[in-house]
Amino acid sequence: MKKIEHIGIAVKDIEASNNLFQKLLGVANYKVEEVLSESVTTSFFKAGPNKIELLAATNEDSPIAKYIKKRGEGIHHIAFEVSNITAEIARLKAEGFVILNEIPKKGADNKLVAFVHPKSANGVLVELCQEIKQETTK
Ligand code: ZN
Repeated sequence: MKKIEHIGIAVKDIEASNNLFQKLLGVANYKVEEVLSESVTTSFFKAGPNKIELLAATNEDSPIAKYIKKRGEGIHHIAFEVSNITAEIARLKAEGFVILNEIPKKGADNKLVAFVHPKSANGVLVELCQEIKQETTK
């Protein structure tokens, strides 16, 4: 894994949290993106070299709605950048980690993503993400 790509934070109200994080970080968000497959709206902030992703549910069946119901708002996942997501999934599987989606899916911010089940990672939902190269998006 290369580095922490971003930290994902589950929020109830994306508008209110956009204002809150703008005050906290001193910068406005640079992108809002809806991820239909996950039923979430995401909002991205940069703090120096680091990225924060706010996630709000767009319907009751969203994993974020379920998460907030169970555990409240807060840090939802840590995303690590990888250069080869398929190889990384295979490596982690061989190490005994439970992978939530073995086929990488398209996430927000032009990334292929896969998740490691928190039960196999000390309660931390780990996201692997690989930048989608322009030529592969066609
Ligand atoms: Zn994320």
